[in-house]
Amino acid sequence: TSVLQLSLEMTDKALLVVSECPPLGLESLKVKDTQLRASSYKRRGLGPHRGRLNIQSGIEDGDIYDGAWCAQYRDKKQWLEVDARRLTRFTGVILQGRNSIWRSVWDIVHTYKVQFSNDTLVWKPCMNGTEEAIFEGNQDAETPVLALFNTSTVARYIRINPQSWYQNGTKGHICLRAEVFGCALSDPNSIYPWQTEPTESKDKLDFRHHNYKEMRKLMKSVQEECPDITRIYSIGKSYMGLKLYVMEISDNPGKHELGEPEFRYVAGMHGNEVLGRELLLNLMQYICQEYKRGDQRIVHLVKETRIHLLPSMNPDGYEMAFKKGSELAGWSLGRYSYEGIDMNHNFADLNSVMWTAIELETDRSKLINHYFPIPEQYTTEEAFVASETRAVISWMQNIPFVLGANLHGGELVVTYPYDMTRDWAPREHTPTADESFFRWLAVVYASTNQVMSNHDRRPCHNKDFLRYNNIINGADWHNVPGSMNDFSYLHTNCFEVTVELSCDKFPHASELPIEWENNRESLLTYMEQVHRGIKGVVRDKDTGAGIADAVIKVDDINHHIRSVADGDYWRLLNPGEYRVTATAEGYFPSSRTCQVMYDHYPTICDFRLTKMPKERLKELLMKGGKLPKDLQLRLRQLRMRKLRVTTKAINRRRAAAAAKRAKRV
Ligand SMILES: [Zn+2]
Repeated sequence: TSVLQLSLEMTDKALLVVSECPPLGLESLKVKDTQLRASSYKRRGLGPHRGRLNIQSGIEDGDIYDGAWCAQYRDKKQWLEVDARRLTRFTGVILQGRNSIWRSVWDIVHTYKVQFSNDTLVWKPCMNGTEEAIFEGNQDAETPVLALFNTSTVARYIRINPQSWYQNGTKGHICLRAEVFGCALSDPNSIYPWQTEPTESKDKLDFRHHNYKEMRKLMKSVQEECPDITRIYSIGKSYMGLKLYVMEISDNPGKHELGEPEFRYVAGMHGNEVLGRELLLNLMQYICQEYKRGDQRIVHLVKETRIHLLPSMNPDGYEMAFKKGSELAGWSLGRYSYEGIDMNHNFADLNSVMWTAIELETDRSKLINHYFPIPEQYTTEEAFVASETRAVISWMQNIPFVLGANLHGGELVVTYPYDMTRDWAPREHTPTADESFFRWLAVVYASTNQVMSNHDRRPCHNKDFLRYNNIINGADWHNVPGSMNDFSYLHTNCFEVTVELSCDKFPHASELPIEWENNRESLLTYMEQVHRGIKGVVRDKDTGAGIADAVIKVDDINHHIRSVADGDYWRLLNPGEYRVTATAEGYFPSSRTCQVMYDHYPTICDFRLTKMPKERLKELLMKGGKLPKDLQLRLRQLRMRKLRVTTKAINRRRAAAAAKRAKRV
């Protein structure tokens, strides 16, 4: 049998063991509750406090010891020790090799022994009948392998002691990542304060992992609870034909209201990073409940904002990870689309379009700084673009989003665009024209998040983001071309950041209530930021009709935004005084000064534009004055519209194909 089937069988067995081990069951010991020691470390400075037990590796691999313990010597005397810091009934171990997405390496342990102790002096081997048990470790670097003990043992310390490992000349080190299973014995005197940390939430929400069907059911129940403020819609289908459901929350669901900004949260573009999905399901239940209770903050938010929640952008990937479960889903299973596409590298790279234009164009007035059209080769049917990515692009084009966030897992940090470096540097600070507002957005989430803002927390992997207040420019962390955030900023009006929600990509279900507590305030406060800066309506001075596609320029910020269908616009800005100009084809530009305050509501800056007389228009055209630039923009828009139509047609064809596949399943 393959390793895959083997570990699935073992999961079932594990569940049997659980019933003997109340009340915590099949739980891995949480890293923060334990301490690590090892016989040796193959890296300077990696002391016990820096040890990590999470089964997923770090995202980067510049440091080859990333995300795992590696012993300095290659002999059978090496061990990794876990101090559970109280008497614990140990039931099993999961082992994984050192893996990364960048490089395949063979630092894996094939077999190992386990020992227990109460004092770290006398060690008792884990037995299999009358013989010392030898457990099967890993055959590849990715797949986590579970080993359950024949009988559980009560002790305080446990050691993992590698016996054989992959060796090929100088290649192959003793490296492992592990999770240890056990349940703490009862603590009648409460002498272990870390055990009394809250694990519950006072909110009555459905705290568990929801697969596709359960997610759909939950969304439906929220819709039935709060029919007046919710609507469920789908933006398209995954490769396997699962729908990409969105929960819309607004006092007038189903339509854009003049002056009301639109907000989105997207989770699960990496299907195995599952916390965001559950948090969004929690969030929709919470908003519904609090709205009905008359909570003024929530009522205000719902009345003033049109909120869209997409809990699962990559449902195919999620289903794969979900089947394995919290402990056995590895680093990358379920990360990609069914076709193997990483969606966060799959959006059209408009950064290169922009930077190439800056390099080649000598006439600076011809450069555009927003609404970059999608290159034609990207929209062809042959382009390697996931149907999920295409669905999200159409969604971004159809709804005038102002602000959003993209929820991930595997780290604790908020990253803001650009995500791509300019000259393919592996990492380099690459700011947008809105650096100051993006930093504000990132800080808002990070500083209200209870885990990130806890100064005693351990780093997840080899980078200590606490030192940077838990925020970083995406490109300054690592280069990501084709990211959703960069695309959103360069192609639409919408500002978006990435939130890495937890060290563990797939936390155990018992951790969901506390993760909701950790994130509730940040999720709400972040949404409220859509009401910062200035907003208004651009109208025709004579008729009063709204002018769509008017360009809003702010002096000293080289990034414009545009008004939407009814002439309304939103310009996110930090407090300060700004000179703002509105221009539209066939109208005289108009400028005014707008003051942004520190309050939680935007400054209204309306514009009334005067139409140019037809003669004046012609005259300008003849002279080749300023107008040709506007006309060029107009031509670009027309071209873009054509591309959008093509994208839609492709999406329709793909959806039909996916529907066929779904029927077959
Ligand atoms: Zn991710």
